[in-house]
Amino acid sequence: MTATIIDGAAVAARIRAEVAAQVAAMQSAHGIRPGLATVLVGDDAPSQSYVRMKHKACEELGIASFRHELPADATQAQVEGLVAELNADPRVHGILVQLPMPKHLNEEAVLNKISIEKDVDGFGPVNIGRLAMKGRDPLFIPCTPHGVIVLLEEAGAVFEGANAVVLGRSNIVGMPAALLLIERNATVTVCHSRTRNLPEVCSQADILVSAVGRAEMVRGSWIKPGAIVIDVGTNRVDDPGAKRGYRLVGDVAFDEAKEVAGAITPVPGGVGPMTIAMLMKNTLRGAELTIPATSEAH
Ligand code: NDP
Repeated sequence: MTATIIDGAAVAARIRAEVAAQVAAMQSAHGIRPGLATVLVGDDAPSQSYVRMKHKACEELGIASFRHELPADATQAQVEGLVAELNADPRVHGILVQLPMPKHLNEEAVLNKISIEKDVDGFGPVNIGRLAMKGRDPLFIPCTPHGVIVLLEEAGAVFEGANAVVLGRSNIVGMPAALLLIERNATVTVCHSRTRNLPEVCSQADILVSAVGRAEMVRGSWIKPGAIVIDVGTNRVDDPGAKRGYRLVGDVAFDEAKEVAGAITPVPGGVGPMTIAMLMKNTLRGAELTIPATSEAH
């Protein structure tokens, strides 16, 4: 069997076009232009590049964007003060604090300060708490896990009763992805660095989501024939032949896995492009939350 390749770039482009159209419609109907503010502390090169990509996406979709940079030695009070200003700024509908922050800062305290109505990353405790509770909806679903679900839907996944295995339990990918799968009535196993016999656990998965960060750890022989495989992992491996001296690979050994799986995401071009598309969607949603309910809505 050769798997269907799930084209994340194409799905993301479609979502971005939909968001751009909705942004334009919101401006003409309500005079509101959605706005995203980013907060970058320090000079971590990958973080700078992620922030740049987010601003570029905003520009392309007609979303206003506000870029805030603080030095690597910024104090907790400075970062929290900036977040408070952005909470109060009516032009800002989403606040994104780029992680990781320098070690001396208390990340949790900063995230707690973001107003729930502007928590477009969905990492605040209220959003995550609602995600974990039955019958409660978060205001914003975290972007990468949401992208995972959209790609699964795209691949025709049947969630109800499926065995889903999630590799990784981080706050930003693994755990929220598992919660979203439970919400869709999958039976979910969450694996981590202490899980025993990973190949055996994976081989039971109708849906396999990997968010570990280990190049090509998941072998083709671990995969159940016909499974849908979503590879979140983004790992650099040395490649002297490549322009930058490295190339990106996923957690899954793609060439092996595509011979067994029913559908699989490539790296790059799978989950990666979805994260920013979902952030743009969440920013639009943040702006929608500020539209006063009309009398008809009551
Ligand atoms: P973390 O390092 O926060 O979490 C990694 C998880 O993998 C942990 O739960 C860890 O277990 C688990 N793990 C580590 N080693 C093993 C192992 N040998 N077997 C099973 N589980 C293991 O990473 P993130 O969640 O932030 O990111 C994961 C990957 O996804 C990375 O490659 C990252 O670059 C990528 N990513 C991609 C994004 C995108 O937009 N495409 C966005 C975000 C991340 P334990 O909890 O026990 O330590």
